[in-house]
Formats: sequence, structure tokens, C-alpha cells
Amino acid sequence: MDDYFVILYLMPKDFFSHLHDKKTPPTYKFFNGEAWMDGASSKTVEVISPIDNSLVGRIPLVSNLEIDQAISNAKKAQEAWMRVPMIERGKILHLAADWMREHEHYLTALLIKEIGKNTPEAKDEILRSADMIDYFAHEGLHVKGEELSGEAFPGYDQTKMAIVEKVPLGVILAIAPFNYPVNLSVSKIAPALITGNCVVYKPPTQGAISCLHLTEIFYLAGLPKGLIVTITGGGAEVGNYLVSHKDINGITFTGSSQVGKEIAVKAGMIPLLFECGGNNPAVVLPDADLYSTAIEIVKGAFSYSGQRCTAIKYVLGLKPTIDKLIPMVSQKTKEFIKMGDPRIPEINLGPVISDGEADIIERRILMAKAQGAKIIMGGKRKERLIEPTILDLVRPSMEIMQIETFGPVVSFLRVESIEEAVKIINSSDYGLQASIFTSDEGAGIQLARQIKVGTIQINSKPQRGPDHFPFLGVKGSGVGVQGIRYTLEAMMRPRPIVLNKPH
Ligand code: NAP
Repeated sequence: MDDYFVILYLMPKDFFSHLHDKKTPPTYKFFNGEAWMDGASSKTVEVISPIDNSLVGRIPLVSNLEIDQAISNAKKAQEAWMRVPMIERGKILHLAADWMREHEHYLTALLIKEIGKNTPEAKDEILRSADMIDYFAHEGLHVKGEELSGEAFPGYDQTKMAIVEKVPLGVILAIAPFNYPVNLSVSKIAPALITGNCVVYKPPTQGAISCLHLTEIFYLAGLPKGLIVTITGGGAEVGNYLVSHKDINGITFTGSSQVGKEIAVKAGMIPLLFECGGNNPAVVLPDADLYSTAIEIVKGAFSYSGQRCTAIKYVLGLKPTIDKLIPMVSQKTKEFIKMGDPRIPEINLGPVISDGEADIIERRILMAKAQGAKIIMGGKRKERLIEPTILDLVRPSMEIMQIETFGPVVSFLRVESIEEAVKIINSSDYGLQASIFTSDEGAGIQLARQIKVGTIQINSKPQRGPDHFPFLGVKGSGVGVQGIRYTLEAMMRPRPIVLNKPH
């Protein structure tokens, strides 16, 4: 059956049909805080499926005037929302989570078509997002201010006292990437709302249609109008205008390091919470269990075609370790990885997001080869399908080591010592996660303390969850800390009210 019919068949008729013009393929509307609107200019951006190059739909390119109006609507709504008791805000969020579960099959089908995930990956993204909304709503109830006495600091006494309240930042701009468009939107929208903020939401172009549905799910759950305004259009157009808008009080962004750096320059002096690119290493110590290490490397490098910020991008070890490991990784890749159309159940490596990205990945592989790397496996491309690629004899100076390659490519490096591995990792412009494989946890912890990245995993591939763990990048990989409690804190500021009693 054609995808459109599957999606239309699964679509709950009464809920989402007003989001578009009911043509095939549809042109969607954006939500300006009051209503679902056609863009005034009737300019649109096409969302093309990476699976078969078909047009999934069109989204409006929202104009600056419309953005101004939407942000003004959001600002007004936020002033009332911050006074709604948190327990009531939480009820709406829990209901939104339930609606996501209710529409799981439809949302999964949409996500598969729009960004080319396979069914388990897409379904996992929807359900994990619902769980995350619940967790934020619950944990929000535990956010609290404090009372401080002046007497704790030399020269002061009990006559000075601060009531430290936690107040919302106000208008939060949330920008999400294509690879987890729903999950990495929920990780911004839910904490912003529970802490009393409103959200100006810029979904990724690829993934925007799923994100428009996400917006509507919050409203279906009873969210008062205006608290999420969803602005569609290309990052270079609407994104640029949004990030320097005078009424934005904080930005939460997930995306590439390059775009993150550009936004940081334009945003000025407002709080920033950024999750950016990763070029994540795995260090394999001589005592590691190479069988399980090889399996983790295959999963870490190739799941969702390497389009994960926490994918393993390179592996370091002493010569005898790497000599033994590469054939095992190649073998496990052949056993586990099946490339093709992600709608077919056994396929677990689908196309990368666009022809442009495939061009970049292919060029990086060819450049590595030209610079002396050896292609052990893969390296070829058919349209947007890139074979799982294993490169040997890679050196730190090669382009593939310098810039995150968002595709199914993993590089192997032989080092003279583990100190050399640490030096290579620490000289990178990125610092999201690293893995250490060893049978000696104590040695793993010692080594972890020398590596300059956000999180170090011992005996596992890098990964983001569980979502209440702190998650952060250092250097070009991010600003601030995510993770349920940490994200909630980042969405608020303290407001000390200082009482001065007579002596
Ligand atoms: P991207 O190209 O940087 O885009 C991310 C978002 O920013 C999209 O919504 C994009 O809109 C928007 N954007 C682009 N240019 C903009 C501008 N000048 N001003 C404002 N917004 C702008 O990243 P991507 O290709 O979607 O996602 C992949 C990247 O995200 C990788 O680098 C990956 O490592 C990173 N990532 C990091 C994490 C993490 O937790 N650290 C998680 C997931 C992904 P358009 O789509 O309309 O261009």
C-alpha cells in the first residue's frame, strides 16, 4: 500500500485534519498561537522523504511580520500561564503524553516517512517522548526555591535574609534537529511549559510535519492558546530572524556545532542551552572483551545510519588490539546490519536524510582514502544509501577526524600508548561523549578522568539516556546541561528577594 494511504488510514480523522489543506500531498499550516494559519506569503518549503524522494508535504515559510505577531501572542499567554498552579500545568502535560501514546501508530508512520527511521526506531522515539513528558511533569513539582540567611557570610548576621524564588525565563525559543525531531522537541517544550514559560518553537524542516502534530497534541490536551507558537520555514530564513528577536528570553537548541556557534553570536546576552555535534571516540584497552566491544562498536557506529550525535565515529587502541578488533567488527557488521528501505522489517540501516548529506559523507570517505586511509568495508553509495563503512589506517590530521561525519562511517586508529589516545581525543574541537572498553572498571574510571568530554561510558556505546542523567557537551559540543532536573533548572532563573530587618 502506498505510504500516503497508510498514513491517511492511520490518521485519527477528528484530530489532525485541520493541520493541512486536505490535498495529496498536503500543504500544512503553522500555529501562530491563536489558530492554524496558511503562511501570508503562500511561500512554502518542501519536505522530501529520504526513503523514496517523494514529497511528504509542504510547510509554510513564515514571514517576519507573522513571527512578530506569534511571539506577541505567546508573550501575552505566558503572563497568565506562569500563575497557573504547577499541578494544573502538570495535568495538561500528562494528558499530552497520553495523547501521544494514543496516536503512536500514526505518529510512527509519519516519522518513518519524513526522516527515514525504521519502525522500532520511530516507535521508540514516540514512546520515549511520551515518557519524557510525564517525567518532566512529575519532576517539575519538586523544583523549589530556598531561604538563605546572611549570617553564613563573614560580616553579616541574621538581619539579612533572602527568599530565593524560581521564576520562568519567559519566552523560550526551542530549535530541534532532524534526527530526533519529536524527542528533542519534547525535551525542550515539556520543561519550558511545566516551569511556566511559553515556547516559540522552530522545528527542523525535515521532521516539521511530525512536529506540527506534536504542537497540536499539546493543545488537544488542553494547553491554553499561545503557549506554543510553531514557526516553520528554513533555518537560514526564519531561524536567523528568531534567534536575534528582542522578545526571546532564552534559547534551547539542538543541532550542529556550526549552526550552534552562529546562533550564539547572534543571540546576545540571554541564557543558552545548546546540544551540538559530537565526534565520539571509543578507546579499547588491551584487556577488553573484544567480542562484546565489537558488538557495541557496530551498534554505536551504524544505528540510524550513524545519524546520532552520540554515534561512535572513531576507535583507538594499541596495534595488537586493533589488529584483532577490525575483523570482528567487520564480521559483526555483516551479521547485524541490513541496508535498504527502512519500511522493510529486517532493515536496520536506511538512507541518510538528504542527497546533500550523502554527497558530504561520500566526499569525506573518498578524501580519507586519498589521504591514506584504507577502506576495509563499504565506502559505496546508492542515492541516499551509504554502505556501513569501516576505515583503517586513519590519522588524526585527516578531515574525517576533524569534522563530525553524520553517516555510517567508523575510523580505526592505532596508537603507541593510551596516553597518545587521550591526547588525540582531548585535541578534538568536540567533546560530547567517549567510550572506554576494559575488563578493569578501576582502570576505566582512571582513564575517564583524563578525557575532556561531557560523559564517559565504560563498556557501552555512547548514548543519551536514561534521560534523567546529566547530558552535556564541552568545547564545540554544547553549552549548559540537559537531563530532566538539570533542564528544568535551566528554564528558570532565581529571584532573590532580600529582607533587611532592623538590628
Ligand atoms: P542543523 O543543520 O544544525 O539544524 C538544527 C536546527 O537548526 C534545525 O531546526 C535547522 O532548521 C535550524 N537552523 C539551521 N540554521 C539555522 C540558523 N542560521 N538559525 C537558526 N536555526 C537554524 O542540524 P541537523 O542537521 O538538523 O542535525 C544534526 C546535527 O545535530 C548533528 O551535528 C548532530 O550531532 C546534532 N545533534 C546533537 C545532539 C546532542 O544532543 N548533542 C542531538 C541530536 C543532534 P532547518 O532544518 O530548517 O535547516
